[in-house]
Amino acid sequence: MPARTGRAYLEGLRDQEREVWLRGERVKDVTTHPGLANGARAVAALYDMQGEPSLCDEMTYASPSSGDRVGLSFIIPRTREDLERRRAMMLRWARRTCGMMGRSPDFMNVTFAAWAGAAGYFAQNRPEFGEHIRRYYEHIRERDLTLTHALINLQRSRTASGLNLQEGTALSVVRETDAGIVVRGARILATLGPLADEIAVYSPRMSEMARGDSPFALNFAIPCGTPGLKFLCRESFDLGRSHFDHPLGSRFEEMDCVVFFDDVLVPWERVFLLGDVDLINRTGARTHSMAHSAHQGAAKNIAKCEFVLGVGLLVAEALGNAQLPHSEERLAELMQYTELMKACTRAAEADAQLDEWGVMCPAEVPIEMTRNLFMTAYPRMVEILQLLGSSSFMITPTEEDLGGPLAPQIEQYLATDTAAARDRVKLFRLAWDIAGTSFGSRQVLYERFFAGDPLARARFVGGIYPKAEVMDRVRAFLRDDAEGGSAETG
Ligand SMILES: Cc1cc2nc3c(=O)[nH]c(=O)nc-3n(C[C@H](O)[C@H](O)[C@H](O)COP(=O)(O)OP(=O)(O)OC[C@H]3O[C@@H](n4cnc5c(N)ncnc54)[C@H](O)[C@@H]3O)c2cc1C
Repeated sequence: MPARTGRAYLEGLRDQEREVWLRGERVKDVTTHPGLANGARAVAALYDMQGEPSLCDEMTYASPSSGDRVGLSFIIPRTREDLERRRAMMLRWARRTCGMMGRSPDFMNVTFAAWAGAAGYFAQNRPEFGEHIRRYYEHIRERDLTLTHALINLQRSRTASGLNLQEGTALSVVRETDAGIVVRGARILATLGPLADEIAVYSPRMSEMARGDSPFALNFAIPCGTPGLKFLCRESFDLGRSHFDHPLGSRFEEMDCVVFFDDVLVPWERVFLLGDVDLINRTGARTHSMAHSAHQGAAKNIAKCEFVLGVGLLVAEALGNAQLPHSEERLAELMQYTELMKACTRAAEADAQLDEWGVMCPAEVPIEMTRNLFMTAYPRMVEILQLLGSSSFMITPTEEDLGGPLAPQIEQYLATDTAAARDRVKLFRLAWDIAGTSFGSRQVLYERFFAGDPLARARFVGGIYPKAEVMDRVRAFLRDDAEGGSAETG
């Protein structure tokens, strides 16, 4: 089957019965539930773009197995051009959601493409696992399936060692059978869980697992409707309001879930790594799936930066303060983040190298920097919007008010020199959905944490940074200084 339409995606969700709980009730149909349906529609719209005649070439490529057009985010990049094409495709998807759906399907597609490209990594100790990952990748690519993932074990306490594997909480293998492994425990935080076809489960944390063989060391993927799998949603941030009142929340609710595994059978062909702590811990780095996943994140970040910058500029224009020095300074900071994000992404593509698996890998340092940068840049961008907008965020009557008895007063007093009252309110309701609502606050939390604990991210970047070069320069300076010479080292 070639790249899917939105309709086929929604049908797929309906056809696969799954156990999703929201506000105490089991959701019968995630595609019609008021808290989830608009998010499903937004993902469907992404799939529809693949079939638009003017976009088809940009969004898809010819499958190496079937020849059908399949989603471009599944490509195993072999050239720099492949990486650039993939980024252009992902950026187009991200712009469609204003960068507000971090877990659009490309997020997981690039990871599995990287893993299939590096199948030999999985085959090292158990050759069948290499075959499993290759076949699974082909399975999701040819069916254009949507994946969610849950990497983190729920915390009960934080031990001195930093291990987080309390028995009875963390997901682990309880037994092996001829059919597969049986797993029990809980995982967080499956974003897009109710709206995905499959769930991938792999390393809980880089470098935090015990050494050796462990029942907690797992990498597998199963359909979301697998018996024993239960998704517990947070409350929905789609409040059932109009696009005018709640422009982002009413469109892009991607939902986050705790996932319970009650003795879930994972068939052998869906197991990609098992027990081997060392292989599990090093998967992201050695297969370079982390860099590929950061590449997808960077495309999303660019779209999000552009969108917030655009909102900031319009806010300043509407309030007539764009030329005030402090507004200019704040807007310039938004521009700086936008350009840094683009620059790091381009640098990562320009300096990309074929890795040991023959896959073209974005240069690791600049692409990983996009993640660390955004953990602090995005909260600051939201702060800047708040500083630019101030009390105008509270001068945001609803759509009903605009048609109600106070409409004449609203029209007269809420207009600015540059914006009619309705346009001003509409803009600020959008800005508030970024800077203040539960939807917007969740976006900030997402950017702070989705790529992992900031401390672990800092350590990771410290580990991959080419430190010797800069240290040698300073050493040379110190030497030259002692000898009374110049610090030029060529
Ligand atoms: C909106 C959202 C969506 C997400 N979606 C997904 C998803 O789809 N799939 C998925 O697998 N995960 C997802 N995540 C989870 C994400 O991977 C984790 O939040 C992240 O890895 C951090 O882990 P944690 O939440 O357990 O925080 P913690 O590790 O508990 O960190 C919390 C704070 O404690 C600090 N800290 C950490 N260790 C220590 C220590 N030893 N001593 C003192 N302080 C410490 C950290 O620096 C941090 O500031 C999502 C998270 C969010 C917020």
